[in-house]
Amino acid sequence: MILYGKPVADALLKSAKKAVASLESAPKLVIVTNPNDNASAVYVKNKLNACAACGIDASAIPMPDKSTTNDYLRLIDRLNKAKDVTGIIVQLPLIDGVNEEIVAKSISKQKDVDGFLKDSFFPPCTPAGIIHMLDYYKGKNFLNGKNAVVIGRSEIVGKPMANLLLSRDATVTICHSKTQDISAFTKQADVVVCAVGKAKFLTHEMVKPGATIIDVGINRIDGKLVGDCDFENLKDICDITPVPGGVGPMTVATLVHRLPALYNKQKDKHLEK
Ligand code: NAP
Repeated sequence: MILYGKPVADALLKSAKKAVASLESAPKLVIVTNPNDNASAVYVKNKLNACAACGIDASAIPMPDKSTTNDYLRLIDRLNKAKDVTGIIVQLPLIDGVNEEIVAKSISKQKDVDGFLKDSFFPPCTPAGIIHMLDYYKGKNFLNGKNAVVIGRSEIVGKPMANLLLSRDATVTICHSKTQDISAFTKQADVVVCAVGKAKFLTHEMVKPGATIIDVGINRIDGKLVGDCDFENLKDICDITPVPGGVGPMTVATLVHRLPALYNKQKDKHLEK
């Protein structure tokens, strides 16, 4: 079975639209952008369009050329304090020379809709979206007792993915660039989440037939978008997400879906920053 993201994303967006309609006012999302980076402009546009379709008031604030870390901090401080701003995203990459860690940490955890901060209300959107997908296609108890392998240990995908799988009672192994013989782990896995950033990294010889494969990777080969998995040779023996059209739409839908929830959490709460 091919696990497409669109039907799951559509269901999440539909539920977000309904939740927004029941609020006193529209949640407001502000995306701080780097106008020098064309690649991220596509992601920003996708987020703005998805928000607009659900009745969320989303806008982009482009940072002026040559902005410094302090320029970002001043803007974020203003957005943190603005009562009408529900969520803040600082779209990566930042303008050259700006300190990513300092900027990321300056966002109020109550407005961190991306879920990048350690004590945010939500985990990062990509792993959270993958759990939505597994729930949709496999049912809420699917992960209980399963062997799951996550390849990649980044802060925004691999590690939070492993935590979420663990929270669903899977037995979880994380593999990374220093892991010896990754196949020995993936061949035992009922679920493999591949987040490496290398085309055709996971091949059919590495997996157990019938396993569920989640391909997070985004790679460009000769201008074509491909994932981390050898989709053509895996799709007939496993359940697998395609790239494009698998995990990608889930990341944006998860982001939009949590804005009305964030709005409700903030209501009557005193903002920390
Ligand atoms: P990242 O920060 O570069 O992390 C990559 C991970 O892969 C690292 O943990 C690294 O191990 C591991 N790795 C690299 N080479 C390896 C090898 N030969 N064997 C085993 N592990 C290896 O990337 P990321 O942010 O997690 O993203 C991963 C991929 O997902 C990228 O293609 C990215 O574009 C994509 N992505 C997609 C979405 C989406 O919405 N679809 C969202 C986020 C990311 P070490 O830690 O040992 O270096």
